[in-house]
Amino acid sequence: MTDWTQVLALAMPKVVLHDHLDGGLRPETLAELAAEVGHDLPEDDPIALARHLHAGAWRRDLELYLEGFTHTVAVLQTPEALARVARESLEDLAADGVVYAELRFAPELNTQQGLTLDEVVEAALAGMAEGPIPAGLVLDGMRTSPVEVVREAAEVAIAFHGRGVVGFDLAGAESFHPARVHAEALDALAEAGVPLTLHAGEAHGPTMVTEAIDRFGARRIGHGVTLVDDLDGDRLGPAVLAVRERDVMVECCPTSNVHTGAVDTLADHPIERFRELGLRVSLNTDNRLMSDVTMSSELLAVARAFDWTTDDALAVARDSLDAAFTTDEVRTTVHATIDETATRLTD
Ligand SMILES: [Zn+2]
Repeated sequence: MTDWTQVLALAMPKVVLHDHLDGGLRPETLAELAAEVGHDLPEDDPIALARHLHAGAWRRDLELYLEGFTHTVAVLQTPEALARVARESLEDLAADGVVYAELRFAPELNTQQGLTLDEVVEAALAGMAEGPIPAGLVLDGMRTSPVEVVREAAEVAIAFHGRGVVGFDLAGAESFHPARVHAEALDALAEAGVPLTLHAGEAHGPTMVTEAIDRFGARRIGHGVTLVDDLDGDRLGPAVLAVRERDVMVECCPTSNVHTGAVDTLADHPIERFRELGLRVSLNTDNRLMSDVTMSSELLAVARAFDWTTDDALAVARDSLDAAFTTDEVRTTVHATIDETATRLTD
């Protein structure tokens, strides 16, 4: 039994695998960048703006949740803005006790003012290189985008793989947009050895998870909340079995799932059930600005809801690091950081 406090949650070494660059801006930065480019925001004051976006996010619907991104994406159209937000994200995560981070975004959304996909990715990587913690970039294709657009994003991911880009993801509205539409892009990525983590089972059933794993060899799954629909008492359905047997990491984002209506309350989140079933889980922010969360606020909420000990939290962090799309060298270094901190903090 651990008596959790904010201070302890902050001090715990944490690993984040699922954090959207365009969902995690500082509200002050969003307001400043919007003023620079003349983009109209619903509120100009950063505090009011953050509250507005958070209220907008919490409408129990994934597609409504995604509305706030029109503002963040609008200001992320220059190399300077992309680099700044990438660097600040890692600074904020580091200050929150995160020891390794993977950021993600869909570069196709950042070309509205003429940047090429390569320039977008180079800018983000340049900002991340100035960050204080080891990190990797996952590129996203939007499920709802035309096939050619996602294929171009995949080509950029292949070109930058090993140079800061560590993986590829499909994001955006799931319903009516199965991954198989983008089979050509996903197959090319697999062939080039770029690991996949696909948003699946967030707003649509477990068949999305099965598709991601069986058809596309995804090593991680974003959200996967609807895997619970694949459980019938003690009987495990094909999606849960596929996750367990192939050791697929489920990137859980509990608070975000409450906001989009994927689960009713944090206590209803299946993260603990997944752990009991022997699935690998990681704990993630998804969108720090939209969902008004940090890694430590998420850890504190989940640890209290499910009576986690510090050892549980450390096990999740270590497991997340093992599932990170990084080099063995970085993994070894970060494991050492976790071990050092752990000796000071365990009960
Ligand atoms: Zn996400």
